[in-house]
Amino acid sequence: MEDAVNRAVAKQDSMFIAGGTNLVDRLKVFLDEPSQLIDISRLQMHQISPMTDGSIRLGALVTNTTVADHQQIRRDYPLLARAILSGASQQIRNMATVGGNLLQRTRCPYYYDTAFPCNKRQPGAGCPAVTGINRGHAILGASEHCVAVQPSDMCVALAALDAVVEVVSPQGQRQIPFADFHRLPENTPQQDTNLEPGELITGVTLPPLSFAQSGVYLKLRDRTSYSFALVSVAAAVNLVGEQIQDVRLAMGGVAHKPWRATAAEEFLIGKPADIATFTQAAEIALQGAKPLAHNHYKVELTKRAIRRALKVSTQGGGIV
Ligand code: SF4
Repeated sequence: MEDAVNRAVAKQDSMFIAGGTNLVDRLKVFLDEPSQLIDISRLQMHQISPMTDGSIRLGALVTNTTVADHQQIRRDYPLLARAILSGASQQIRNMATVGGNLLQRTRCPYYYDTAFPCNKRQPGAGCPAVTGINRGHAILGASEHCVAVQPSDMCVALAALDAVVEVVSPQGQRQIPFADFHRLPENTPQQDTNLEPGELITGVTLPPLSFAQSGVYLKLRDRTSYSFALVSVAAAVNLVGEQIQDVRLAMGGVAHKPWRATAAEEFLIGKPADIATFTQAAEIALQGAKPLAHNHYKVELTKRAIRRALKVSTQGGGIV
């Protein structure tokens, strides 16, 4: 590991490769042209480790399939297992890793089409999606420089679960709260994350969450497999009697990063778990939404998804 990070900082524009399920796509069409690829796939980061404080640590090289099939993850963090299983194909999940999932590019179809400019590929080139076809794009937190959405399902679940990302560099180790890991586009859309050059993800820790078993992941998309979310919702509710004691709510497919609905969470605490409450929470979660020409539908779709996810979670979770 030490050798890998030292090599990464020694040569500018180095990249790490593990499962390669997104990176190889980009290499094939020269969207990334690293000075060197550092294969980290044999580093010792393949373990899922229950910790003494009740948290569980996922090594960065654990595959998505292994996480989703893990008995303790399925029992204690079902929304994470469901989120992973709703993403990609079985073959891709067999190759894709925890660390790589966090690092897949936030992008849109224009990013892959080099006939169009794209601020993500070439800062300052322009963003054709702002005035072009933007049906799948962001409704929250976008900027004039980029309106792409972060495509990971797993990351929406990790946002809801307050995961912590562990990274290492020659300067040492640090932990990044999940909410601070991905970035909004602002005027630097080429940067998807707050990783420093040469930093390597070594693991992701899921803190204990007593009501995580009520968690649900609802993904709405154009077709039912191998498709990115138009909108997704991760929700978990701690219900005491008829009252909401605590809640986690995060959305995917709506922003440049997984979108934690903290204002809606604060509203929900102490409220009765009924449809009127869920409806108000959904309104709060979408306050500030700025739909583009072709994605006004996402605002109402997200509200409905929130209502449904909260309702199912208060009923104990399960398949939505
Ligand atoms: Fe590029 Fe982002 Fe614009 Fe898509 S939305 S074309 S990724 S800058």
